[in-house]
Amino acid sequence: MADAKQIEEMKKKLTPEQYNVCFLKGTEPPFSGKYTNNHDTGMYICAVCGSKLFNSHTKFDSQTGWPSFWDTVASENVRLEDDNSLGIQRTEVQCKKCGSHLGHVFNDGPKPTGLRYCINSLALEFVPKDSK
Ligand code: FE
Repeated sequence: MADAKQIEEMKKKLTPEQYNVCFLKGTEPPFSGKYTNNHDTGMYICAVCGSKLFNSHTKFDSQTGWPSFWDTVASENVRLEDDNSLGIQRTEVQCKKCGSHLGHVFNDGPKPTGLRYCINSLALEFVPKDSK
């Protein structure tokens, strides 16, 4: 489990583009991320601290240009915050362990949850599932 000091070290290893998303709450351009069209089976973990965030079986094609999921691995692994920037009411999704900004969650997703977690590829790391 990463402590605050380890997280500071991890921040230094991010690319400038990742830092902009994860700690300055930036958004990667749509259709630019490497995981938007990834259909492989596996786990999406936090690019900063490695916490498990999204399972590939909850990923769906939202046509928005960002990786989209209808659920988290575990609700206690993320933190939801009101975001009223840009004059729009949205709900921000953060990694609970390290505070990294992941994206936003909307109420227009598919069943069974009706949620759409709209997440930046830059905030994620994909770990393919062992095929054996
Ligand atoms: Fe994290």
